[in-house]
Amino acid sequence: MSSVQIRDVRKSFGNFEVLHGVTIPIEDGQFVVLVGPSGCGKSTLLRMLAGLENITSGTISIGDRVVNNVQPKERDIAMVFQNYALYPHMTVADNMGFSLKLRNASSEEINKRVKRAAEILALSPLLDRYPRQLSGGQRQRVAMGRAIVRDPQVFLFDEPLSNLDAKLRVAMRTEIKELHQRLKTTTVYVTHDQIEAMTMADKIVVMHDGIVEQMGTPLELYDKPDNQFVAGFIGSPA
Ligand code: ADP
Ligand code: MG
Repeated sequence: MSSVQIRDVRKSFGNFEVLHGVTIPIEDGQFVVLVGPSGCGKSTLLRMLAGLENITSGTISIGDRVVNNVQPKERDIAMVFQNYALYPHMTVADNMGFSLKLRNASSEEINKRVKRAAEILALSPLLDRYPRQLSGGQRQRVAMGRAIVRDPQVFLFDEPLSNLDAKLRVAMRTEIKELHQRLKTTTVYVTHDQIEAMTMADKIVVMHDGIVEQMGTPLELYDKPDNQFVAGFIGSPA
């Protein structure tokens, strides 16, 4: 676990600035949801946290360490994407253990961690199956398993549920929250779905066109929106 500090972060692609000085403090163990309309810069910010995109100016720290120039694999972070492509030719166990193998973990260590993650995610009976033999929800859990085995300081989720049907989405929301309650790993979760934000977040960050409009608990945003944008966005039915 670790705190994350995003300080006055800007990002330009060529002459086009997409993040205009974003500051977000994240406490150790917090579940923070970045929410905002498509194109407002959520994924770009998350990719910068993961080290997949460089920072034009400002700083990002994880724990005590400024990570601006730290390579992705040197950051103690695991990311779950929307398109959680599993390796079709590998079993569930091998899919989950693969990133540890890349990091030269011993097979004993890999087995131990995969077993533990499978227990947490109720995947133990499925470890020898192949992705094509799994349901959509089970595949999503394997994708989360790949992140959990790393036992990272920070989890990043980028719209992980947006490809699932409505019923499964609600179930997975609960699973991800339960996972967080159990592991207490600092989490930054991106969505454009305000209901997802309201039900999952310790703290919501409302973004719009590359700036932070408001931060607060779901209740604070609901009761005291700072402006029309926040009021409209949080208050509108899904
Ligand atoms: P969100 O995840 O909130 O939908 P993104 O972070 O994906 O938004 O994108 C924010 C803005 O940055 C968009 O206008 C998008 O077109 C632009 N953008 C994202 N990645 C690139 C890139 N690699 N090159 C140029 N523009 C990009
Ligand atoms: Mg996005």
